[in-house]
Amino acid sequence: MTQDSCYKCGHPATTREHVPPKCIFPESKDMGGENFRKNLITVPSCEVHNLEKSHDDEFLMVSLAGIFGNNSIGYMHKLGKVDRAIRRTSERLLDKVFLRKKRYLYEAADNKFFEVIWGTPDQIRLEKCFEHIAYGLHYHHFGRRFSGATKILLGYLHNEDADSRTFIEFIKDKVSIDLATAEKHGSNDDVFYYQFSETDQFGLYMMKLVFYGGVDIFIAFLPDNQEMPFNLGMELIKSGIHTVITLGDKKYEFNKS
Ligand SMILES: [Zn+2]
Repeated sequence: MTQDSCYKCGHPATTREHVPPKCIFPESKDMGGENFRKNLITVPSCEVHNLEKSHDDEFLMVSLAGIFGNNSIGYMHKLGKVDRAIRRTSERLLDKVFLRKKRYLYEAADNKFFEVIWGTPDQIRLEKCFEHIAYGLHYHHFGRRFSGATKILLGYLHNEDADSRTFIEFIKDKVSIDLATAEKHGSNDDVFYYQFSETDQFGLYMMKLVFYGGVDIFIAFLPDNQEMPFNLGMELIKSGIHTVITLGDKKYEFNKS
């Protein structure tokens, strides 16, 4: 049927799949007829990777759509398709998305409440989902499979640890400088878009994913056969030594004691 090879493993492809998954794009019936599924991206896939990813699609949808800071499209999607999926599975979906969950009512205006679910996200599973998306988009964007290692940073998650918070802030600021003039790709950019950075002198490059205008994920691509650059600042941070990194006129302080 096709000569293409799988975006993830390179074996002969038997099907195509959506990256990101189609279910994160709202259906027009939930959006007053407006079309948020224009020119969705698909990549060739083998049976194994298609199946592996399809199990994660609904998990990802529920994980992303209910997050504070999303634009109104994310919120409408949450009220429509996402809540239908949750009801259909009698909440088992939520138990998968949040390892520990709590519900409370949030008062948006006088006497207008909506329910908020707050919990500990399944970060390992989320990172795996975003890794699949990163591989798929890499294939789509460059026309070839990525071979190497990826490092995923979930910029939207709150971190309890002060150094992790500072580090995420640093990466966000650095990437936003690197991507200031980079093109936004994606035909439904209120739902999703991505950007790639230029390759740096070590052969590394970054991708940023943005969902519903507010959920940001950063992925570093480290191709095979590249020496990891030695970075004194990062080594000091890892070894627990008080370190200050400067970016422009902003300072980032690690291991404050
Ligand atoms: Zn495969």
